[in-house]
Amino acid sequence: MENIDPATGQVYGSIAAGAQAEVDRAVEAANRAFSIWSKMAPADRSSRLLRLADLIDTNLESLARAESVDTGKPIALARAVDIPRAASNLRYFANAVLHHHSEAYEHQQGASRALSYTLRQPRGVAGTISPWNLPLYLFTWKVAPALATGNTVVAKPSEVTPVTAHRLAALSLEADIPPGVFNIVHGRGDEAGAAIVAHPQIPTITFTGGTATGKHIAATAAPMFKRLALELGGKNPTLVFADCDFETTVSGATRAAFANQGQICLCGSRLLIERSIFEKFTDAFVDRVQSLRQGDPLEESTQQGAVVSLAHQRKVLNAIDVARQEGGTILCGGEAAPAPNDRCRTGYFVKPTVITGLDEHCRTNREEIFGPVVTLMPFDDTDHAIRLANATDYGLAASIWTNNLKRAHHLADRVQAGIIWINCWLVRDLRVPFGGMKQSGVGREGGAEALHFFTEPKSVCLSLDE
Ligand code: NDP
Repeated sequence: MENIDPATGQVYGSIAAGAQAEVDRAVEAANRAFSIWSKMAPADRSSRLLRLADLIDTNLESLARAESVDTGKPIALARAVDIPRAASNLRYFANAVLHHHSEAYEHQQGASRALSYTLRQPRGVAGTISPWNLPLYLFTWKVAPALATGNTVVAKPSEVTPVTAHRLAALSLEADIPPGVFNIVHGRGDEAGAAIVAHPQIPTITFTGGTATGKHIAATAAPMFKRLALELGGKNPTLVFADCDFETTVSGATRAAFANQGQICLCGSRLLIERSIFEKFTDAFVDRVQSLRQGDPLEESTQQGAVVSLAHQRKVLNAIDVARQEGGTILCGGEAAPAPNDRCRTGYFVKPTVITGLDEHCRTNREEIFGPVVTLMPFDDTDHAIRLANATDYGLAASIWTNNLKRAHHLADRVQAGIIWINCWLVRDLRVPFGGMKQSGVGREGGAEALHFFTEPKSVCLSLDE
């Protein structure tokens, strides 16, 4: 298959179009390797994963460049966030597994005493499917806990952004991860991805991507009784109260809306603003958005790069047209951006777009756009803010900007989202559970949740009677 650089619109490489036959071979290899990898001492598995993390650090510059070219994201973002986080994912789970413990209970019935304890065993071959927006970051977020706990892996990165996963495969051999432990099948979602989900010898599936694909995957995996984690879409609110730190909030809300061209599942795409500061905040916010430097992703100063593909550019521009038809007012953006230079003259750029004048019931405020588009809505009081925040089928994340601590706690309790930030956005500790409510997903990743997901608990009861 052709691989396209979205900043130029040009084909710059080709990737293998794997399908059923390649998945079958990968599963065979993974099954064979399972007997070695699952029995290896956790410290030995851990040291190999730590070596892989170090190799990512050593190759930071070339991986960041590859990620930027493959996705259209600013190279500064790939260098500061995507690639370091991939190394952190591996390092965190390589260390966490050494401290993972199970339970033991001594108990007594009448005169009989017993000890019950739990074994946590790897489940076999894990199938991991990840999207294009944070390619290596989300790919390793799944692969790292699966491998650390002794599973082998068949992984499918998005066909749209395959390069850094391909590079990671080579690095994993350098890190002395035995052949067969970590398999990557490139290919289309409805071929390679579907073959992984349906494979009878893959009992564990973890997927990050769109809600529609998640439904499809659940329909295949559920009747096969597979263990399934789904991290899906979001339509996240950013709640701004009049007592917030104004400048910090303007810049936090801008970053939340437009980081990675709005192509992060956690982006705050609905900005809810207390009515008393609505006009003042809107003016300051639009000024800030218009000052974002849109440019060639490979230029150091670029803050907004290209969107990931022509199809995605069309989808985002179409969503902006829907907003217009629904009666929305475009305060800035609203169209494809002109090419920032000659190299990018046929690339896929969208101007950061701010829309107002729509209520919470319209498609624009309910459906995920997953691009550089944010809507603004005023609210009157805390209850009204909560109603607006919860008025979607999604429930992934929310950020709340206020100096009133009691109100912040109250909102954290009432807003339907798996992740709540107060006076910040995208600050992450890898130990806390990560995932969404409602149609944003099923299950949680991160910390102990991931270690549990990839292991099978087995309760053992040992009589202590003499
Ligand atoms: P998709 O759902 O289109 O694809 C996600 C992955 O699934 C890709 O690797 C894709 O392959 C694969 N896939 C597609 N169809 C199937 C299928 N029938 N069976 C198995 N696998 C399949 O999502 P996008 O890549 O477009 O990613 C954007 C979406 O991801 C957004 O909705 C976003 O909100 C969500 N997301 C959620 C996150 C979370 O943590 N909750 C984090 C990041 C993104 P291919 O691309 O090769 O066709």
